[in-house]
Parts: sequence; structure tokens; C-alpha cells
Amino acid sequence: MSHRHRSFLVVTLVCACLAPLAAQRFAGRVLEVTDGDTVIVARAVGRAGFEARRIRLFGIDAPEGTQPYGAESTAALSRLVMGKVIDVDMKDVDQYGRLVATVSVGGADVNEALVRAGAAWHYAQYSDSAALAAAERDARASRRGLWQTASPQAPWLFLNSAAQRPATGPFHGNREAKVLHAPGCQHYNCKNCTVPLATVAQAQAAGFRVHEQCVKGPDLNPGPWILN
Ligand SMILES: [Zn+2]
Repeated sequence: MSHRHRSFLVVTLVCACLAPLAAQRFAGRVLEVTDGDTVIVARAVGRAGFEARRIRLFGIDAPEGTQPYGAESTAALSRLVMGKVIDVDMKDVDQYGRLVATVSVGGADVNEALVRAGAAWHYAQYSDSAALAAAERDARASRRGLWQTASPQAPWLFLNSAAQRPATGPFHGNREAKVLHAPGCQHYNCKNCTVPLATVAQAQAAGFRVHEQCVKGPDLNPGPWILN
């Protein structure tokens, strides 16, 4: 192989390696604002196709819908991006398979704007961004948005405390899978979830095991749950 050909090969390989990086940025139109830190974006694929991608905003965490300022946070994100074309700069894929990204509109960083407005926390556990940290200090000092409350609860702590509370019935048992679901679970009204059960104890006696994601709490786990 001549030197000239070798150079060409090296350039080709470098381009092949860089191609995925280039693909980590894309533009898409916002179809839905799910909550204060999640949007659904239509991304062009192929010649005339679109795919909907759920995007979790990187480095920030907004109050949950049932927390104080949750609805306001969702509204704040909607005002910034709903129906608009945003630039998506992918950072990661999270444990739920969602894209985690910094998004911007017309060059303005949306993630940072939300934190600066007091519509979201800097998610310092997953981000060492100095810009987001500074934005939160600014929002706290000026008592903007969620910082109007004296001591707001961080959404990550709120989720933990909610998960530790035992679920209350009435429960639905899946007659095929023998799994118990609590109200609010995505499987609560599934096709086979037709066995009404008032208490976990009753379900256990009937041979159901609990669905960990929706039925849990320290007083619900004397176990063993699977009797057969
Ligand atoms: Zn469930």
C-alpha cells in the first residue's frame, strides 16, 4: 500500500469514529412537555420520516407534578420550548433508556434558563456544571420560582420518600402472572389485572407476589412473598 493510500485509509477510519459524535446533536420539534424536565421531540429520520424521542434534560431536576411548584415548572418549560424547534445535545442515555440532553432554542440554553428561573434544581449528583451551579445560586439568592418557599424539598428526596411509603389499596392482582399492583401503577388496569384485593395480606394468602415498583414499604415485606 502506498503512503498516499495509507493516509486515505487513516482519514476514513477517523471519520468513521467521529460520525457517532456528530449524530449526538440533532434538531427536532417539541411535540409534548411531559413535566418540568422532560420533553418529547419529533426527530427527522430517513428521507421523510420522523421518530418521537423522549428527552430528559441533563443536569437538572424539576419538582414532581404532585410537589409544590411542579405545575409551574412544567408551564415554565412549555413556555420556552412547546411547538418550537430545539437543538438537542445528547449527553447520556439513562437507566430508563431515555436520552439525556442539554437543549437550546435559538442558541439559548434551556436547562440553564430553567434553573436560573427557579423552575428546576441543579442535579449536582449527576452534573458538575459550573454554569448550572451558578444559576441555582442566583435563583436561590433572588428567591425566584420554587425558592420562594423557605425550604423546598428536592425532587430526588421526594421520590425516595414516596417510594418508602407503603402503598394502599384497593389492589389489582394479575390472574395470570400472579402479581399485585397498587393504584397509580401503569399495570393497575392491565388486561389480566382483574382480581380485586383489599390488602397485601389478602393477596399474599392468595399466592400473589408484589410488584416492587408500585407496592412496597417496610411494613409490607415480612416475606417470603412467593409461597410456591
Ligand atoms: Zn405495579
